[in-house]
Amino acid sequence: MRSRLHELTKRIFDQPMTDSSESADSKLKTRSLPGVENKEPTVTPPPSASDQSMLKRPKPVTGGPRKRLMPEGIWTKCPKCEETIYRKELEAKLNVCAHCGYHFPLSAWGRVASLMDGDSFQQMDEDMRSVDILSFPGYLGKLEANQQKTGLRDAVITGTGKLHGRTIALGVMDFGFNGGSMGSVVGEKLTRVIEKATQDGIPVIICSTSGGARMYEGMFSLMQMAKTCGALAYHGRKKLPFISVLTDPTMAGVMASFASVGDLILAEPGARIGFAGPRVIKDTTKAELPPGFQTAEFLRDHGLIDAIVPRKELKGRLACYLDFMMTGQESGLA
Ligand SMILES: [Zn+2]
Repeated sequence: MRSRLHELTKRIFDQPMTDSSESADSKLKTRSLPGVENKEPTVTPPPSASDQSMLKRPKPVTGGPRKRLMPEGIWTKCPKCEETIYRKELEAKLNVCAHCGYHFPLSAWGRVASLMDGDSFQQMDEDMRSVDILSFPGYLGKLEANQQKTGLRDAVITGTGKLHGRTIALGVMDFGFNGGSMGSVVGEKLTRVIEKATQDGIPVIICSTSGGARMYEGMFSLMQMAKTCGALAYHGRKKLPFISVLTDPTMAGVMASFASVGDLILAEPGARIGFAGPRVIKDTTKAELPPGFQTAEFLRDHGLIDAIVPRKELKGRLACYLDFMMTGQESGLA
């Protein structure tokens, strides 16, 4: 019995680990027992050359990554101070960063709510829609996508309402709708609300944010520049005030028309305001642009803007300005 055990042990340890005909790969991981066909690996086999996924370090996520890691709609990050902010807290502060005062974009309805008393706002022409007058490829689809995204018919809301008890005509643009571009509907709605203000003897306030005229409507959008300014000229003849509030960004055809002809021109802190973009100007003039070029602060220092007003102070400051500008026309503030 003992000699048989010894013989078996000897056979086991003298047995070559692998058959020389086997591949190099399997040499490392198999061991044959005498008389046993089973070739189970004795250690976890390394992954084959075609399956190296376990050995690779996971790639860092790039391109808008950090935003995706945060649950959509709950947190947001301030682009200026990089603080992570609870979105509800941000909305409660009119989309202004509590840490550094950065003014996030505010939707048109958010702006209306921030300026108007209670439910005093009466919207005008809310069903007016753009038409594809030039048969511009893709324009109708773009309009529909923007309508779904913002819940608006076009890039402006107009109407009348009360601001700390003073009746005013208000126009508010929304950059979220096709970059706040001014087409026929934006121009027509603004013109109508200005004409209503002229008729009723009340002031006009327009909060602008726009990339400019709407290229999909070509000449028809450019005509809105003259039309809105014409309506404001008639409003001005009745010695009624127009206050233009410039928010980030207000550029091109809007800045070159009604937004820059206010009796009083206000802007939000840090707003980008101009006609052509800085790169175009730099390439055209071949000159270095001064620091802070095309910001609200730069334009205030150079005389185009009368005052920079933080968003939370805007309603109160507008009420003061209106009282001053409407002196002697109290009957108009019915
Ligand atoms: Zn901030």
